[in-house]
Amino acid sequence: MVVLQGKSVFRDICVGPLFFYRRSQKSVLRRPIVDKKSEIERYRHAREEAAAQLQRLYEETVTTAGSANASIFEIHKMMLDDAEYVNSVENMINAQGMNPEYAVYLTGQNFFRMFVSMEDDYMRQRAEDVKDISSRLIDILTGESLKNDELPREASIIVADDLMPSETVRIPGEKVLGFVMRKGSVNSHTAILARSMGIPALVEVGDGLLEEYDGLNAAVDGYGEKIYINPDGKTLSSIRERKQQSDRHRIALGELKGKDNVTLDGRRIRLFANIGSLEDADKAKANDAGGIGLLRSELLYLGRDSEPDEETQYEFYKAVLEKFEGHDVVIRTLDIGADKQVPYLGLEKEENPAMGLRAVRLCLRRPELLKTQLRALYRAGVYGRLNIMYPMITSESELIGLKEIQREVISGLESEGADFARQVPVGIMIETPAAAIISDRLAAHVDFFSVGTNDLTQYTLAMDRQNRELSGFMDTHHEAVLRLIETAARNAHRAGIWIGICGELAADETLTGSFISMGIDELSVAPSMILPIRRRIRELNLEKQDGK
Ligand code: PEP
Ligand code: MG
Repeated sequence: MVVLQGKSVFRDICVGPLFFYRRSQKSVLRRPIVDKKSEIERYRHAREEAAAQLQRLYEETVTTAGSANASIFEIHKMMLDDAEYVNSVENMINAQGMNPEYAVYLTGQNFFRMFVSMEDDYMRQRAEDVKDISSRLIDILTGESLKNDELPREASIIVADDLMPSETVRIPGEKVLGFVMRKGSVNSHTAILARSMGIPALVEVGDGLLEEYDGLNAAVDGYGEKIYINPDGKTLSSIRERKQQSDRHRIALGELKGKDNVTLDGRRIRLFANIGSLEDADKAKANDAGGIGLLRSELLYLGRDSEPDEETQYEFYKAVLEKFEGHDVVIRTLDIGADKQVPYLGLEKEENPAMGLRAVRLCLRRPELLKTQLRALYRAGVYGRLNIMYPMITSESELIGLKEIQREVISGLESEGADFARQVPVGIMIETPAAAIISDRLAAHVDFFSVGTNDLTQYTLAMDRQNRELSGFMDTHHEAVLRLIETAARNAHRAGIWIGICGELAADETLTGSFISMGIDELSVAPSMILPIRRRIRELNLEKQDGK
């Protein structure tokens, strides 16, 4: 038996034969051409055919894995039309008399090298995509397609260095028990797809995964983050036992869908989800979230080379609001800065970014940034129950400044005669000790509070939340933090507004009873934590005080 370690992307277990995915080896040769004009035409036809294929793949993937996963094929379509890429290929044909296959191959290589050397993570990932579209074009130009023997005949554990998006969706779902990648990353397309298909997947397993294991029986343990090749009987039975346990657990949790979040002594609490994308919104729905307690809108700003414009933002917020029609959706305005940096804003390097120009501070300094977002939010607000939330508040004057910008945006929309939501509750995050301490004053300006325990803990304990060295010091149940939450809860209720918790502590089952006792009205957690927290709420009896 060989045991290899990787990183788990989806925690489940599968047992079956290994199938080593082999890319068809394309040998693209340079050959002389006679008629440049007709070769250019041939390339243009291939582009059209590739666009049609990508459109079909997009539509198929939308139905099998949702629009978020399918969007990669839209990106491919855009790359196919990229002016620099197209000019490079056509120039090589025209100026150097190159055959289109070879021109596409060389252009693909050049672009791949350029993307791979970029610093930005998002751009580096585009390297695989450019390879993917180039190989699609070459397939069309040479008339080659995937041969049957490259696909598994029986349901298997698919092994590769990494898979390109089009390869991942080309393998029929019923033939995939799990994915194991030598390279890959937890955010690669294969990983995202594995999560949405709910199948076990390991990435970064390394070169120990030898071709000679092809066809051998193996077990992937997504919990222990291991793959066992040729597992012995004892290992297999303990893995199978674990699988049965996890299936039982999942079934039991599934039965809680549609049930109330109510304790044995009748105390109710709202249970919402934290999301960052449409894909997360689907997961929140599937896990029976009562609404969205935190949409981290800055995720829309990260990983791109320019600020998302008003229309892009409007479409995204509208889509989320429509998915959660009839339910509250709290969208937080952008929290850029500190650990979330974007290159296009040209922010100066700070000595101490966690205490620097982040979130509303940046918005107050650059109101245009917030204005675009607020315009998109108010316009999208007509499609659902929108709530706007400001992050990193420390003072009343910040709130007064933000409301001033808000008024300007509203009167601008009014004078344009735009269709927008007029009654949008506005709240703030309580995530600095200052905000918790003066929450009595802040409550007078807003409709709700949501406690960001991640930052509240970091700033109260003066411990960087990103610094792993501090994990031994970081007491996430520190009384100082709990007292600040209690203060904010008391002040919220005195002012007649609701208070929720959207930091990670909201999903800490050992604190659920304490939070309900404090009068917290809403907990907002990762979609996968909704049902476990519901189970916890339903077993508590606070009158008997056994739930603390
Ligand atoms: C928090 O600080 O607890 C929070 C929810 O916000 P973020 O983790 O995005 O900073
Ligand atoms: Mg925060």
